[in-house]
Amino acid sequence: MALIVQKFGGSSVADAARVANVANIVTDTYKAGNSVIVVVSAQGDTTDDLIAKAKEINPNASKREMDMLLCAGEQISVALLAMAIQKLGYPVVSLLGWQAGFKTNSTYGSARIKKIDTERLSAEVDKRNIVIVAGFQGVNKYQDVTTLGRGGSDTSAVAIAAALKADKCQIYTDVDGVYTADPRKVKNAKKMSEISYDEMLELATLGAQVLNNRSVEMAKKYNVELEVLSSLTRVPGTIVKEVTTMEKMLIRGVAKDTDVARISILKVPNNPGIAFKIFDLLAKKKINVDIILQSVGRDQTKDITFTVAKDSGDAVVEILSNSGILTPEQIVCDTNVAKVSVVGAGMETHPGTAATMFEALYDNNINIQMISTSEIKLSVLIDIVDADRAVSAVHEAFFSAE
Ligand code: ADP
Ligand code: ASP
Ligand code: MG
Repeated sequence: MALIVQKFGGSSVADAARVANVANIVTDTYKAGNSVIVVVSAQGDTTDDLIAKAKEINPNASKREMDMLLCAGEQISVALLAMAIQKLGYPVVSLLGWQAGFKTNSTYGSARIKKIDTERLSAEVDKRNIVIVAGFQGVNKYQDVTTLGRGGSDTSAVAIAAALKADKCQIYTDVDGVYTADPRKVKNAKKMSEISYDEMLELATLGAQVLNNRSVEMAKKYNVELEVLSSLTRVPGTIVKEVTTMEKMLIRGVAKDTDVARISILKVPNNPGIAFKIFDLLAKKKINVDIILQSVGRDQTKDITFTVAKDSGDAVVEILSNSGILTPEQIVCDTNVAKVSVVGAGMETHPGTAATMFEALYDNNINIQMISTSEIKLSVLIDIVDADRAVSAVHEAFFSAE
């Protein structure tokens, strides 16, 4: 008898018909003789709607209270799915994150799982219950509920699969696998039968939200093989694992991230220590900085430009304005930017990647503001209005010849 973990995202449980569809998938798996643990997300746009509700009441609500609110979305889903499974006549129990043993740290809004106490989960499985677990949530040492960050239900599923050494971890969503670019935006995007953890991790981190990046990190760490597949069409999906048998492709995929703000610091003295002072202040406030660019002017001054997550933009401006080393006029924050990236393990040994990408952008008259590279990725920062066009153009440049 195999233990199978199945995760269903928000669109897979968006309404009564979708919940009934998921109940069928789950009970088919159970009927075949497997033990099944199911992780579900909040229905449809519930999490966004709850965030909007909170903003109406208090845009500066504490993260603890936000987590208290957002946990409710997944609570609704687990109960409804359990009811649909009861209707089909199968034994089932729904559990919130804390009941399922999810112990997290206390970083409300993006808590990390410290461990899962698996007694309850194992006991329910041993009773032959189908277990439905609320994704995206846990409890901290103060007995307060926490959430794992947007898209966190993927991580909940992988964490259970790792803790219980499940035989399979299936991530059901509204597309039938991982594609070379978002299949909703790029019509020629191709489905991959397999992708390595490292490439998937880069794609997820650079904006392909089909899998949450922390879930891929955890899958790699505990060697949990993932299958990404559709809850609506029963066709094989994409396998995410350590080594793929696919030939080492130059580029595996193209991703877009619009959750970016560009901060420019203008005309600071060209002396040692300025960069240190600025980035030390930000580090102390736990603000993650991504691409950094410094350019030296002719008049003994320099400009420093860097990117942060969009919702950190205002905080960065405030921290730097109050730093005593910069005047408000020296700090510019632009949130109308997007990062477009190509990812592929083959890039390491192939010098032409940058030229191909830049040519595609040039041909489409898209201006590059910043560039960043690593062994297996190449990213450019551009104007947000050009983002979808850029993804299509770059995708076309790398994949049209195949
Ligand atoms: P869920 O609610 O199931 O967690 P998400 O909306 O988080 O689903 O992720 C699925 C979405 O990810 C798809 O609808 C698709 O538009 C988007 N996506 C972005 N990049 C990719 C990609 N490279 N391959 C597949 N889907 C992608
Ligand atoms: N409901 C949460 C979100 O919308 C978690 C998830 O869907 O994975 O981010
Ligand atoms: Mg998701």
